[in-house]
Amino acid sequence: METTEKENETPASPTVGFKDLLLSEAMMAALENAGYVEPTPVQAGLIPRALEGVDVLGQARTGTGKTAAFVIPILERVQPPRKGYGPQAIVLVPTRELAVQVREEVVKLAHGRKIHSVALYGGKPIRGQIEKLSRGAEVVIGTPGRVLDHIARGTLNLDNLSFVVLDEADRMLDIGFRPDIEKILRRCPRDRQTLLLSATVPPPVEKLARSYMRNPESLNFSTSDLSVETIEQFYCTVEGERKFDLLEHLIKRETPQQAIVFCRTKRGTDKIERRLTKRFKDVACIHGDLAQNVRDRVMSAFREGKVRILVATDVVGRGIDVSSISHIFNYDIPQFCDDYVHRVGRTGRMGRDGVAYTFVTPEEGNELTRIEMRIDRLLKRDDVPGFAAVSRTPTGPPPARTPMMGATEASDPAAEVAPEAPAPKKPMFGRDGRPPRRIRRAL
Ligand code: ADP
Ligand code: MG
Repeated sequence: METTEKENETPASPTVGFKDLLLSEAMMAALENAGYVEPTPVQAGLIPRALEGVDVLGQARTGTGKTAAFVIPILERVQPPRKGYGPQAIVLVPTRELAVQVREEVVKLAHGRKIHSVALYGGKPIRGQIEKLSRGAEVVIGTPGRVLDHIARGTLNLDNLSFVVLDEADRMLDIGFRPDIEKILRRCPRDRQTLLLSATVPPPVEKLARSYMRNPESLNFSTSDLSVETIEQFYCTVEGERKFDLLEHLIKRETPQQAIVFCRTKRGTDKIERRLTKRFKDVACIHGDLAQNVRDRVMSAFREGKVRILVATDVVGRGIDVSSISHIFNYDIPQFCDDYVHRVGRTGRMGRDGVAYTFVTPEEGNELTRIEMRIDRLLKRDDVPGFAAVSRTPTGPPPARTPMMGATEASDPAAEVAPEAPAPKKPMFGRDGRPPRRIRRAL
């Protein structure tokens, strides 16, 4: 089930320019202003179908411009502001940071036009958002929790919606967000157009997604290689207690322009940040326990390049687009294969080069193999002399999985990150619980 992408792949359209998409003059001007010269493949494929009113389930790698692929058709179809009419489009996203980022794209592409948009997310006083909604907003971008809050207060009227977008759809339809999404969708008009976007759409998610859409069309622009081609992907074997020293060594060796260090837990994130701060300048951390204004500050400092090394949980792993990220360090191996794709996709954006290092302890061989099966590619081994973990016997039974540390993140509602859905994301191994021979190997 993990290698079917190629068969379903939507063939790349012949070179299409924005002018072939028959966009309005205002949009062409906004695109020029944004510096977008050519549409990316997902944009070239999705925009014409969306403009025709078709429901689309779009899959394309991270960093390939999925945001503009849905924002452009929305802005092309939105009616001029009308008093008391309510929003015409709602974009649901899994994290606060992404709500802010998607809104920025809306503002950018609505350049020179009177289109109002507002981001609705938790951790910020609700009053300012209510105020903006009452002044009229044609496009609303929000996290599910806060959107429901507004619906309950009667401050968000969805009666005149024409578009519903689920960005990072696989995460939105994951067990943690699904009940909220269903509640929201029940409040949306039935004759709306629905667009779902994601880098990864496992078959169970696709099946579920279809139940929320009308004769949806699946457009798949991911190649069978799910990870961005311009990213070099390495793994390093290392004993758990030596991971920090290895990180320090790699940062010194690689001198990243900007890097994200991904950790599994909030406490781990804080700890690594404290230790890194003693050794390097411009280090910060971000996770769901921090106050929203702190998170906003950290993200903008990172975007401006004032923060060079950001230690983070998967909260920022989704959709965040900072183009000068040169390095990703998976200090803790991601628990779920798709999270690997999303984390690593933070670098190598729009064809730029990036490097990803995944630290693998001797107990985590199976996790590494699962990731490799998911992306259908073997990571290159880069063992730093003096740090490599001792070899495990190649034919021994698979080691027991370590306890799921991620629970702390997931159980915190303030984090706005859903607890992960169990099984379906992960490919199952053979009956003996071991990976197929092709990629079975020792660490
Ligand atoms: P995705 O959602 O697929 O991960 P984003 O929508 O975040 O990707 O886009 C990644 C980056 O590419 C953003 O910085 C965006 O401004 C830029 N971008 C999007 N479309 C184009 C385009 N047609 N030309 C140039 N840059 C683009
Ligand atoms: Mg995105």
